[in-house]
Order: sequence, then structure tokens, then C-alpha cells
Amino acid sequence: MIFQEFNLNEKIEEALKENSYINATPIQEKVIPLVLQADDIIARAQTGSGKTAAFVLPILNHYLLNEKEGKAKIRTLVLAPTRELTLQIADIFKTFSSKFDKTLKIVSVIGGQSIGEQLLDIQKGCDIVVATAGRLLDIVDKKQINLENLEFFVLDEADKMLDLGFAEELELILKQLPNKRQNLLFSATYPQKMKQIASMITRNAIEVSI
Ligand code: AMP
Repeated sequence: MIFQEFNLNEKIEEALKENSYINATPIQEKVIPLVLQADDIIARAQTGSGKTAAFVLPILNHYLLNEKEGKAKIRTLVLAPTRELTLQIADIFKTFSSKFDKTLKIVSVIGGQSIGEQLLDIQKGCDIVVATAGRLLDIVDKKQINLENLEFFVLDEADKMLDLGFAEELELILKQLPNKRQNLLFSATYPQKMKQIASMITRNAIEVSI
């Protein structure tokens, strides 16, 4: 399936073309239409399947369809297990929003880097936060982040997050999120423990696997 069939905004199509994304991968083919129609999803997908663009593209499309005036508010939160993955995801958001008239502010919130700078970026106003759980929780504890306007919550590589022992952090973060939101959960495996977490996060989720 080619990307044009999703009817994504032309600003996104331009960036797709520039980055030689022509054909959707199987996970993209299944996930993108569901995200566009506002469903919660639980997707089983490995690294390398193209799962990042599967959530990034429809989320960005939502921003173009629902532009908001004034200071940017956090409308998307992505949690990932590692710093490296967090930075990669933020990069993909930047790449595919590069043609937007209004530049989106995308902030990575990760350990091992100055918290002060990250706090400043958040205070200045941002549209998308991509975070690891530990550092995000530090910022939540300082009451320095407002997640009331959140529309999308993405949990990427959820199984790895549990393996690394982040279940408790995850629960604390979930308490900060508004009830009305769209949830997208990605995991390579789906153990019993994940089912509990998934039921805590998602509502009437559609399960997708490739
Ligand atoms: P991911 O599984 O999201 O980490 O993506 C794996 C790699 O495939 C990344 O380098 C992506 O930029 C690339 N990629 C993902 N989807 C596509 C696509 N539809 N066409 C070309 N490259 C892609």
C-alpha cells in the first residue's frame, strides 16, 4: 500500500517523499487508519517494522487538522524504555513535521542530560514530549509539567519497559494523565503482565499484529 492512500495532509506527504517513504510497511498499513479514526490500539511489532512512523504520521496529521492558537500545550506524550529510542522517536517527529507552516516544539526528556534545560523547554511551551519514565517522573514530582491537555499517550516497546522494571513509574505517570485520551501501545511480546498494564492504559483497544 502506498502512503498516498491514507490521505495524509500534503505537508506530511512532502516529507514522506523527501525521505523516500513510498510504500507503507505492514504495521503502518494496519495501524495508521486506526489511529486516524481515533481508536486505542495494542500493536505487536518489532523494532525495524516501521512502528515509529506508524504512530508518528497519524499523530502529526491530527495536529494539522486541529491547529491550536497560542502557547503550545503538550498534546502528545510518548514513553520509551531507553534514551536512544527516545531521541530516535523525537527525530522522526521532527523529520515528518519539517514541512509544517507552524514548527512543532518537540522535547526529549531523558536522564543523563541537564534537567534544567529540559524544564526550560517545557516551560516555554511544547507540543510533543518524548520521555523515558524515570526523568519524566522527576519532572512530574517537581510539578513542572502540565499534562491536562494531552490527547495522545504512546507507550513504545512496552515489554522492554517492564523488563527494565518501570512498571511502578508507569503507574505513577498514568495518574497524571487526563482520562479522555487516545492510547497507542506497542510491544514486541505480549506476556500476561503486559495484559494487565494494557487494560490499565487502553480502552476498547483494537489489537493489531503482523
Ligand atoms: P522502526 O521500526 O520504526 O525503528 O523503523 C525502522 C527503519 O525503517 C527506520 O530507519 C525507518 O526510517 C525505516 N522505515 C520505516 N518505515 C519505512 C517506510 N515505509 N519506507 C521506508 N523506510 C521506512
